[in-house]
Amino acid sequence: MPELPEVEITARRLDAALRGSEIESTMAPGINALKTFDPPLHALDGRAITGVRRIGKHLVVDVAGDLHVLVHLMSAGRLQLYDKRASLRDRTSRLLLRIADGRELRLREFGTKQAAWVKVLRDADLMADEAIATLGPEAWPEPPEDLRELLDVARPLHSVLRDQRVIAGIGRSWVDEILWESRLSPFKRGDDLDDDEAAALRAAIASVLDGAIEHYEKVVQLPIPDKLPLPLQVHRHQGEPCPRCGTTIEAVHYEDYVMCYCPEEQTGGKVLKDRRLSRLLK
Ligand SMILES: [Zn+2]
Repeated sequence: MPELPEVEITARRLDAALRGSEIESTMAPGINALKTFDPPLHALDGRAITGVRRIGKHLVVDVAGDLHVLVHLMSAGRLQLYDKRASLRDRTSRLLLRIADGRELRLREFGTKQAAWVKVLRDADLMADEAIATLGPEAWPEPPEDLRELLDVARPLHSVLRDQRVIAGIGRSWVDEILWESRLSPFKRGDDLDDDEAAALRAAIASVLDGAIEHYEKVVQLPIPDKLPLPLQVHRHQGEPCPRCGTTIEAVHYEDYVMCYCPEEQTGGKVLKDRRLSRLLK
C-alpha cells in the first residue's frame, strides 16, 4: 500500500537515477492501465526524462517537451527501475519505459486487480487533471496550519485523514501510526478536535511521516523492492504490546484492511467493536 513516504522515496530514488536519461521506446502491456490517448504514449519516445517527483500519493515522471507521465500505484502497484528489459511474459507489467542505455522503468502490479493507472498529460493538463486538482493540501513536509478547520467535519479521524480531497498522502498504514502518536481515538470526529488535539495531530503527522522517510533514506536502494520495509509500530501489530505503554494493541477488521490502536492511550481503555466478528455473529 504505497502512501506518501513510500511514494516519496520512490520518487527520490528514480529522480536520481533517471534525470537526463532518454526514453527510447514505450509499451503499455496492461490493457487497462493507460487512461489517456492524446498525447499518445509514443509521444514520449526519444525524449529525455527531466525529473521524477511526487504529488500526494501519485508519481510524476516529467519528460522534455512539457509532457508528464502521471502514475497512481493504487494498492498493489510499484514503479521499478531495472538494468535489463522485462520478459514480455511478465504478467505484472502495466507500462514499460525503455531507456536508451538498456535500463527499463516498469510499472508493475501484483495481485489480481488491475487498478494502478497511468496518464500521459501535457503541461497545461497536469495540475488540472481530476486526480490532482481535487487533492487537498500535502500532509508533508509541512502539514496544513489550518488542520483543525480542514478536519472540521462530522466524520471519524480514521476516515477523514485518509480522504485525499481533505489532506493528501495518508492512507491505511500511516493513519494508524499518526493517531497512535497523537494519542487520539480513530473514531473521534474531526469536528470534535480542540486546539491542543489538533496541534498534537499536526505534530504527529509531521514526525511520523518524517520518521518513515528518514528510515527509507537509510534502507531503500534501487531497485525499489516489491515490499518496502514499513517501520510500523502499531498498524498490523494487533495482539502485540504497545511499544509505549505495554497494553495489548487491538484491531478492528474491515473487509480488506485492519485498523489498529492502543485502547489504553487512545480510546480511554475501551475496546472497539470488531466489525468482522460482529458481522459473523449476526
Ligand atoms: Zn499504549
